[in-house]
Amino acid sequence: MRIEGTAGERATQVLEGLGVAPGVAIGPAYLLEAGAIPVAVRTLAEGEVAAELERFSAAVAKGQKQLRKLKTKSASLPGAAAEEIGYLLEAYLQMLSGSRLLRGVERRIREDLINAEGAVQAEIAEIAEGFSALSDQYLAARAADIRDVGERLIRNLTQTPYAGFAKLPPGTVVIAEELSPADTALLDPALIGGFATVLGGPEGHTAIMARSLGLPAVLGVAGLIGAVHGGDVVVVDGSAGRVVVNPTPELRAEYERRQEENRREQRMLGRLKRVPAVTRDGEAVTLLANLELPRELEPALAAGAEGIGLLRTEFMFMNREDLPGEEEQYQALKSIIEAMEGRPVTVRTLDIGGDKLALPLHVSESANPALGLRAIRLSLKERPLLEAQLGAILRAGAHGPVRILLPMISSMSEVRQVRQALTTVVRRLKRRKVKIADPLPPLGVMIEVPGAALSADALAQACEFFAIGTNDLTMYTLAIDRGEEQVAHLYNTLHPAVLRLIQFTAEAALRARIPISVCGEIAGDPRFTALLLGLGVRELSMAWPALPRVKQRIRSIDLLAATRRARMIMDQSDSGRIAALLDDFNTLA
Ligand code: PEP
Ligand code: MG
Repeated sequence: MRIEGTAGERATQVLEGLGVAPGVAIGPAYLLEAGAIPVAVRTLAEGEVAAELERFSAAVAKGQKQLRKLKTKSASLPGAAAEEIGYLLEAYLQMLSGSRLLRGVERRIREDLINAEGAVQAEIAEIAEGFSALSDQYLAARAADIRDVGERLIRNLTQTPYAGFAKLPPGTVVIAEELSPADTALLDPALIGGFATVLGGPEGHTAIMARSLGLPAVLGVAGLIGAVHGGDVVVVDGSAGRVVVNPTPELRAEYERRQEENRREQRMLGRLKRVPAVTRDGEAVTLLANLELPRELEPALAAGAEGIGLLRTEFMFMNREDLPGEEEQYQALKSIIEAMEGRPVTVRTLDIGGDKLALPLHVSESANPALGLRAIRLSLKERPLLEAQLGAILRAGAHGPVRILLPMISSMSEVRQVRQALTTVVRRLKRRKVKIADPLPPLGVMIEVPGAALSADALAQACEFFAIGTNDLTMYTLAIDRGEEQVAHLYNTLHPAVLRLIQFTAEAALRARIPISVCGEIAGDPRFTALLLGLGVRELSMAWPALPRVKQRIRSIDLLAATRRARMIMDQSDSGRIAALLDDFNTLA
């Protein structure tokens, strides 16, 4: 695409590709020599074979040495990058020891009587062609790895120096027809700003490497080579998948602004991990993570989660024909609790039924799944299911602090029935001398049904903590399906009715002196933070990527002012006015 404008003598061009690693790089272009190293194929005389085999074996040894050196150098790269590059170089090293590649080249030298360079080229072409023909995209991409090793051997045989990136001016943008993963491994983020290539896809090692190194990269840019010349200034926008050649002064300024924004954000978010979640006037807030899958544990901890405020246990029941028993659930919970190293883990009992997830149970379909036999209702009907879960949680509680959370509670009797089941399970486990949590885990209730919110005073006497599920609370209060796109515009947590239920619940918990958290999506949205704090909530549980930004918001809030604004908001009857008052407060403080 050609856009209006020029940068000095040169025309500005915008090219589209695959943004495989986010961020913006602006810098002088360095065009990497395209294409393979030219190889002169020569026929050998019988008497030359031994010497040629010798020469080949020296090139292989040199290649091994180079790769080992690269491996040592890459070990100093930041975490994931070091690991990724390490694996790849190890794979390359294996290609250079007793592999089909080496045997094939030696056979060609001996039997076809061609020189080592020619033999390598022919062998690589044959192997790479075999890989490329495979329908499996991952394996097909390995053809590039084979070519990379082959080119290294040819470079060593012909003494062609390896393309050095070290002497480039800082911020250089590398432009290439194709960049091999090993070449990418040589790109030092302190010198190279980013890169763009004509070939390459989002699943290849080059893309993975770019992400690991944090280098903005755009691959698969058609027409790139013809469009960029030495001395051009190039922008690589890895977030949008765009390459701008010779940006106009206005475009360049815009991208520089984006770069600065990204840098500031990264710096700030990084710093936030270590600082406490405290308001400007010194009130501490507990920030917890919602967990859907165990694999989120590590990033949640890295983002500073002080515990798990909502462990959705549905993951244990997905993609299977049978139900997990107590032992299996115990093992899964135990490893999560141990990984949290003493931080509390709030385990919610199964929250499925109706349309959410089909279980191998004899439960007939509900005409209104959202109002049918789901969540705690299903657990209370299927007692073995509930008892297995409670048993697993009690046993896992012997390995660290846990809390039990009940979904979709709508009456006192449901809490009572769960307590009875809990007593039965405790007795059974104690009889069997199985180690369980001591003292017994606190039992909490999700407040996500309007009837539960309105009974919050009574429920607060029957349980040890509340967790407000604003996703369902909004849905049930306004009678708007949270998953239905036709009514999505009507789904509004700032509706005064929803806010009054949140306020009523928070006040009931505060009066009864039981902990209360919010674990619906609004807990992770900084727009709502001041309002929730103003309503008395001091515990927020959210998806881990939201933690730093919410912490940042908390640290900018004056609790006294937020409380006053929350009171003002609660006097309103119009959700538009509520939104305006909240947004106004957010821009001021
Ligand atoms: C909620 O309803 O707000 C909640 C946190 O639970 P889920 O989203 O799992 O229904
Ligand atoms: Mg819910």
